[in-house]
Amino acid sequence: MALYSDKVMDHFRHPRNVGVIEDADGVGEVGNAKCGDIMKMYLKIDDDTITDVKFETFGCGSAIASSSMATELIKGKPVSEAMTLTNKAVAEALDGLPDYKMHCSVLAEEAIRNALEDYYTRHPEKRGENAEASIED
Ligand SMILES: [Zn+2]
Repeated sequence: MALYSDKVMDHFRHPRNVGVIEDADGVGEVGNAKCGDIMKMYLKIDDDTITDVKFETFGCGSAIASSSMATELIKGKPVSEAMTLTNKAVAEALDGLPDYKMHCSVLAEEAIRNALEDYYTRHPEKRGENAEASIED
């Protein structure tokens, strides 16, 4: 009886994009009290595209697998797409997580949002551009 999917185990054992980006354009840090996970996400953004992403996670296997998968999902993608990444999409990409571990994937979503917020705080002019784009919609 496998509690975790092969993908979860794979990302847990061989996490992608682990590390720090020293000159990151946005950094987000979140934590949850439930299993004591702490996640830090670093984004490199060029021309509204996420050109590089790295993370450090101190936490359970699901948190590590979720952050690893989340970085894979947003790398090379436009900021607008990363903004809409949900924990559900992360969990689905991992072929599911046990119900009581879903909150660990929420961390990945929040860490990315926080990092993007940080980016917009540093570059308020970029937010303006995106706001205009959404009005046109
Ligand atoms: Zn956890």
